[in-house]
Amino acid sequence: MAAAVLTPIEEIVDERLERRGVTVYMKRDDLIHPSVPGNKWRKLKYNLEAARNEGRKTLLTFGGAFSNHVYAVANAGHIYGFQTIGIIRGEEHLPLNPVLAHAVECGMQLRYESRERYREKGSDAYITELRSLVGDDFYLLPEGGTNELAVKGAAEVVDEIDVPADVVCCACGTGGTLAGLVVGLARRGQGAALGVAALKGAGFLRPEIQGLVGEASAPWDLSLDFHCGGFAKVTPELLGFIADFEERHEIVLDPIYTGKMMLGLFKMAEQGRWSEGMSIVAIHTGGAPRSHWSGLS
Ligand SMILES: *Cc1c(COP(=O)(O)O)cnc(C)c1O
Repeated sequence: MAAAVLTPIEEIVDERLERRGVTVYMKRDDLIHPSVPGNKWRKLKYNLEAARNEGRKTLLTFGGAFSNHVYAVANAGHIYGFQTIGIIRGEEHLPLNPVLAHAVECGMQLRYESRERYREKGSDAYITELRSLVGDDFYLLPEGGTNELAVKGAAEVVDEIDVPADVVCCACGTGGTLAGLVVGLARRGQGAALGVAALKGAGFLRPEIQGLVGEASAPWDLSLDFHCGGFAKVTPELLGFIADFEERHEIVLDPIYTGKMMLGLFKMAEQGRWSEGMSIVAIHTGGAPRSHWSGLS
């Protein structure tokens, strides 16, 4: 059975950081698992365990047509012996995009919901109806996979950081990973968490993240300044930064999440946000393979 590995931490040696006296490390969680990338693996880990302990045979989840989470669940189900059902927002478009085509290859059953219906997905009425349609025996993973067990898994990345970490940084979609960093840093007793939002107008995430964090206390912040136009939107500056970063450091960033985080981090360094001598650990949360990026604009 494919298993997760202890991922390396690499220093990003870059004159733009040296000039500011800031040290940046990257925790290479993109290498954590051969087919369930990055933070999606961490967030699924305890959920898969719970599904198994409850004797569930099926994982059911929700997402948009390009969801890394849906992709990860399809892979995890295939590898760990669960059937999978993906409820996809919007209409079916054929041919399927690479994310959904791969999900189907993994055996995932797709169901499409109109945007209006999709909004109801959290309601009891919707879930009851779903049970009558697909049966009772599923383990429900929320959109983006964020729940308490996901936060527990995401927190573990902090325990693996063996370099100085004044700030630990991640990209934010639902905020589950950031909440995990806060919980992990509270346990470590040192360091602050910083999320970089991948979507526009993500201020609404702050109370949700606080709710996920609960009593754990470590300082944290969410930057709203580097979404580059919105979720899955890109700018020439972002794409240029990603290409240049790969050339300099031989690390591939994805344009939806990790590219925006690193662009933000470098810009914040340039703006003098961090004092000299600070040490920052950026989590490479993985992301979709390059073949899935085409068509972003
Ligand atoms: C899903 C994803 C995120 C966002 O994680 P959340 O816990 O939803 O905030 C960040 N980076 C990558 C690469 C992702 O695939």
